Amino acid sequence: MNRILLFVFVIVLAALPLVPATPEFWVTQLNYIGLASLVVLGLVLLTGVGGLTSFGQAAFVGLGAYATAYLTTQYDVSPWLTLPAGLAITAVVAYLLGAITLRLSGHYLPLGTIAWGLSLYFLFGNIDWLGKHDGIAGIEPISVFGVSLASGRHMYYLIWVIVLLALWATRNLLDSRPGRAIRALKSGAGMAESMGVNTASYKVVIFVWAALLACVSGWLYAHMQRAVSPSPFGLNYGIEYLFMAVVGGAGHVWGAILGSSVILVLKDQLQNLLPKLLDTNANFEMIVFGVLLILMLQYARNGLWPILSGWWESITGAGGSRRAMAPPPAAPALPHRQRPQAGQAVLEVDAIRKEFGGLVAVNDISFTVRSGEIMGLIGPNGAGKSTTFNLISGVLPVTRGQVRFLGERIDSRPAREIARMGVGRTFQHVQLLPGMSVLENVALGAHLRSDVGVLAGALHADRAREAQLLHEAAEQIKRVGLGDYLYEQAGNLALGQQRILEIARALAADPVLLLLDEPAAGLRYKEKQDLARVLEQLRDEGMSILLVEHDMDFVMRLTNHLVVMDFGTKLAEGVPAEVQKNPAVLEAYLGGIDDDLPEDVQARPVQSGGVQ
Ligand code: ADP
Ligand code: MG
Repeated sequence: MNRILLFVFVIVLAALPLVPATPEFWVTQLNYIGLASLVVLGLVLLTGVGGLTSFGQAAFVGLGAYATAYLTTQYDVSPWLTLPAGLAITAVVAYLLGAITLRLSGHYLPLGTIAWGLSLYFLFGNIDWLGKHDGIAGIEPISVFGVSLASGRHMYYLIWVIVLLALWATRNLLDSRPGRAIRALKSGAGMAESMGVNTASYKVVIFVWAALLACVSGWLYAHMQRAVSPSPFGLNYGIEYLFMAVVGGAGHVWGAILGSSVILVLKDQLQNLLPKLLDTNANFEMIVFGVLLILMLQYARNGLWPILSGWWESITGAGGSRRAMAPPPAAPALPHRQRPQAGQAVLEVDAIRKEFGGLVAVNDISFTVRSGEIMGLIGPNGAGKSTTFNLISGVLPVTRGQVRFLGERIDSRPAREIARMGVGRTFQHVQLLPGMSVLENVALGAHLRSDVGVLAGALHADRAREAQLLHEAAEQIKRVGLGDYLYEQAGNLALGQQRILEIARALAADPVLLLLDEPAAGLRYKEKQDLARVLEQLRDEGMSILLVEHDMDFVMRLTNHLVVMDFGTKLAEGVPAEVQKNPAVLEAYLGGIDDDLPEDVQARPVQSGGVQ
């Protein structure tokens, strides 16, 4: 959000209860909006950013509320001590629930959240010492430095200071190293694993984060109401929180406040208006909300926040060209990996096989990539090249056979561990986070070169290390020639540039071995020349590269060694000039299986200059 706007927002927020003319009702309403914003902020992270839908957040509000209600009334503990206690209980419960539910995929996850949301709700209503359905009354107000926050106007400040702090921390988190990994969860989890991100643990992290925010909201609620009972922690409230997140803009932290405000104000207005209009006291506002939700999903899927901020940018001209923005400032270089000596075996593929049902996609293929060489893997479409890449990088498990990297078996390891060992890759079908900038996409590639954790990210204690990561990312982007597009959204680049971006992302991990799957597809002649120069330079620096490419000029110019595959089987292997003359290879390409190659292979004279 624009700084001036933010300033105005905070001033108005701070001044409202000071003005005696502000009706008490407004203050109460704003208190409720603040409490809801905390829960919805958690949902923004969990559902909007992370793609994990939860209907059960109200139950965590209940945990926070009941924890403090019970401890303060039974044991006379100070509310300032029940807060950490409630947070600890919530963290444990959320961790356990998350570890179980987050494994569920698709529709099963929301169903799972409904299940435990209901369970916790009924638990509150059935435990004797929690007062069953009557709940717990007589809760003390919170006091700050001896000032009791018994009145709504006083509580207001505590609530909104906490809301703004939570917004600040969540925003910081999203802008940090762990945040980039979290932003990959929804649409790029497989890719992120290949960058070394442990997606399962980040899912638990955002789940616990969202639960903790809900718990804080419950703590505040209990001391504001001075009484708790199970009903505000039921499933219908869980649904309402989710609704607020959708309406506000589930992917935007400010959408949390916007969504909570819109829904709570609307609910209140409808509760006043509908009985007059319809002459009944039934809860018709739920029906209006239902219709509204359908309209939102039809016409404003991303919620109101993006619409509002887009409108603001259009009238103020904010946003503007991102090209003019300065690159991230120089920072100390990240440490580099030791590269093996030239000629040493880096990757040894030993009779690997992959069967998809009855189809043998990779049929006992063996080859070796040595340090400081570019090895080409060519063959018609469907030959099994990409599958071979996926087997090497751990994206797919091998049916049988072995893969060794620097002498160590990697064929049964997960993708992120293989990435950690020094294998970088690009994807034939580009896998970027289109809404993130080029710089952020590439910084995700350097995920493993930093150890900034969730807390350091959220508290903004990661500045120096973040600067190093961004500087490294910017350097790799410049190296591959995309230096003008640092802050451009990755999705706005041409397809060829997106492929190049993937190379920069792989390089940001400082790999020993680089797997490139058709990097030159979609590039223009000059861009291909530039890419070839970058790859040559990398090889000269000791990088080992395994290259899948259809452009024969490109392959002949760059590779030291070639393996040809057809129908999953190795047809030929050797130096490019010889392989090119191999009758079996010519037959495979001329067989009409792949029409982007035959003239190329057949007509071109062997070019010894292309082979170093
Ligand atoms: P290439 O990259 O050489 O064009 P691929 O490795 O993508 O070839 O595909 C090899 C064969 O395996 C093709 O017949 C393809 O249809 C099949 N294949 C690839 N991935 C899968 C999968 N996940 N499930 C089933 N078949 C697959
Ligand atoms: Mg392929």
